[in-house]
Amino acid sequence: MSDVRNVIVIGSGPAGYTAALYTARASLKPLVFEGSVTAGGALMNTTEVENFPGFRDGIMGPDLMDNMRAQAERFGAELVPDDVTEVDLTGDIKKVTDSTGTVHLARAVIVTTGSQHRKLNLPNEDALSGRGVSWCATCDGFFFKDQDIAVIGGGDTAMEEATFLSRFAKSVTVVHRRDTLRASKAMQERAIADPKISFVWDSEVSEIHGDGKLSGLTLRNVRTGATSELPVTGLFIAIGHDPRTELFKGQLTLDDDGYLTVDAPSTRTNVTGVFAAGDVVDHTYRQAITAAGTGCSAALDAERHLAALT
Ligand code: FAD
Repeated sequence: MSDVRNVIVIGSGPAGYTAALYTARASLKPLVFEGSVTAGGALMNTTEVENFPGFRDGIMGPDLMDNMRAQAERFGAELVPDDVTEVDLTGDIKKVTDSTGTVHLARAVIVTTGSQHRKLNLPNEDALSGRGVSWCATCDGFFFKDQDIAVIGGGDTAMEEATFLSRFAKSVTVVHRRDTLRASKAMQERAIADPKISFVWDSEVSEIHGDGKLSGLTLRNVRTGATSELPVTGLFIAIGHDPRTELFKGQLTLDDDGYLTVDAPSTRTNVTGVFAAGDVVDHTYRQAITAAGTGCSAALDAERHLAALT
């Protein structure tokens, strides 16, 4: 059992490192659990990031995260490349257990565990991520000017991505495994009315092709089993996200989709002294800058909470 710390940050994406930076600069000596496999968060798996302000010529995702990490460390954040495996957030002193079974104590906890985009789980999907395969039209649409693009999914996000991408693309093909869309009526109507968008119904992607760069897809009709080729240089997978909230079930309030709920515009959760920021809360924006922004808010909320205790 450790001494009681001021604050523990769980998670190491833009939200976690920003919370770490702010709490470190407030002399709160944060302990940051970065995760054992994915330290640095979602941007470690991407190439060029062109929309994080301050980098006129863009920056590679892993470089951006290395910079954030080093900046937090410079001000005294203690960074641990380990997973939190258990939490007890109920009392005034929060208990956070790491993978070795060591229990760490703190008066405040900031949760920034992010969310995992759902994958198709096909060979080549990871290898071509950032090389034609993407999970974020807002992030990457600009790279696909005048190209043929496929969007996979039938919900609101898929329709929003398809409509957004049609501004840049030569064509957008929405591939959906059913014959009706789940998206809201307004979103559907907008996509269906768009002359650049077409639909392939009752179909799923069975193969992703490309050597170093995406060149096309094989589609399989789920009713007939027939296959067809779709030559595209962009693939946007919009089949949902899973927020990483398993650890907090039964302690923090989750919404129907499993995201943590906060008392917006603050980052306060339902438990006093526990704050949440970034994609683990955010259904809507899911950007590095919004995650960093709410990470800053969580640090300031935690700082005020701690000040009120003294
Ligand atoms: P994440 O970045 O997901 O980080 C959370 C981290 O918490 C995890 O990775 C893990 O290290 C850690 N963690 C989780 N559970 C535990 C645990 N139990 N113990 C310890 N640690 C834990 N956004 C942009 O603005 N511009 C872009 O160009 C862009 N490109 C993208 C490209 C890709 C391929 C992807 C997937 C996303 C992209 N995004 C982009 C979105 C952006 O990456 C996310 O919005 C942002 O990273 C969310 O930050 P976060 O800190 O909330 O969570």
